[in-house]
Amino acid sequence: MKAAAFFGVKDIRVVDVKKPEVEDDGVLIKMKACGICGSDMHVYNSDLLTKDSTKEMDGYRIIGHEFTGEIIKVGKKVKDFKTGGRVASVHNKGGMAEYIEVHGDRLKNLFNIPEGISFETAATLEPFCNPMHSFHLREPKDGETVAVFGLGIIGLGYLQIVKANTNAKTIAVDISEIRLKTAEKIGVDVIINAREEDAVKKIKGLTGEHYVRYQEKTAGGCDISIDCAGIPLTLGQCFEVLKPENGTVVISSIFEDTFTVDPNMIVLKYMQVLGSMGYYESETREALDLIASKKVDRDILISHRFPLEQAAEAFQAQSNANESIKVMITD
Ligand SMILES: [Zn+2]
Repeated sequence: MKAAAFFGVKDIRVVDVKKPEVEDDGVLIKMKACGICGSDMHVYNSDLLTKDSTKEMDGYRIIGHEFTGEIIKVGKKVKDFKTGGRVASVHNKGGMAEYIEVHGDRLKNLFNIPEGISFETAATLEPFCNPMHSFHLREPKDGETVAVFGLGIIGLGYLQIVKANTNAKTIAVDISEIRLKTAEKIGVDVIINAREEDAVKKIKGLTGEHYVRYQEKTAGGCDISIDCAGIPLTLGQCFEVLKPENGTVVISSIFEDTFTVDPNMIVLKYMQVLGSMGYYESETREALDLIASKKVDRDILISHRFPLEQAAEAFQAQSNANESIKVMITD
C-alpha cells in the first residue's frame, strides 16, 4: 500500500509498504482524510520530535496522526467497532497511508464520527482537542479580554471555542491574509494584521496601558493571552499585552529555538504562565460534540486538499502560511 514517509528535512516521499495485518484485538481502517499537523511541520522543517510523531513501517517513518476513515476489518476480540464504522482517530500514528491498523489499548483513541459530519470535517478533531485543553486551563469569563497570537488551526480553533462558550472579548493577531480573514468569519472582535500595524501598541490602545513597577515596559489590559505561533517575538508580546497584575499566558505551541525571557516581567506582573500540550479524553468528547452541534464551522479551516500520492505538494502548501490553514490529505 502507499504511505507518505519522512526522508529528511523538507523531503516527504510516497513509498510502498506492506499492508498491515489485523490482529484479533485490532481493526483495519481505510484512510479517508488526514490533516497535516503543526507537529508534522516541525518534523518536516527541522526533524524535530520525529520519533514521537511518526510510525515506523518497513524501515520508513510514516507521518500523520490526524486521520479519519472507514473500518474495513474487525478482529475477533473487538466488541466496540463494526465493519463499515466511520471513525476519527487521535494519538494513533501512521495516518498518511492507505490503511491504518489500530489495536489493543489504542482503540480507545478511536471515536465514532457523528452522523452528518464528513470524514474531512472529522479529521479536524485532533487539532480541536488541543485548544479545548488550553481553554479549560484558564477559562475566559464573560467580559474578559483574550488575545490570541498565531492563527493556525490551533489559534483559530481556540477562538471558535471561546466564541461558542463565552462572551469574552477576543483579539486575534497574525500576518497571514487567509488566517486573518478566517478570524473575521469566526466573529473575532478585533483582528490585527501585525505586518501592517504594531500589535502590542494597538492592543494597549484598546485595552489600556498601565505602569508596571520596576519595569520600563508598560502593560496592556488583557486578562489572558495565548501563544499559538511558537516564536520568541509573539511570546514576548503575550507577556507584554497582559494586564499589570494576575494575567495568564497560555503557551500552546512548540518552539524550534531556545531564547532568553526576562523572568522579572513574569514576577512583577504576578503572571501565571501555563504550558498546554495534549488533552484529556473528556476534552476530545467535548470537541467532537461541539463539531457535531454545528455551532462551529470547522470546514472553513480546511484550505487545501491533496490526494495521498501528492503528499510532498501537500507539505509545500502547508509551509506557505500566507495561503494555507489546514492542508488535508485525502484518499
Ligand atoms: Zn495534531
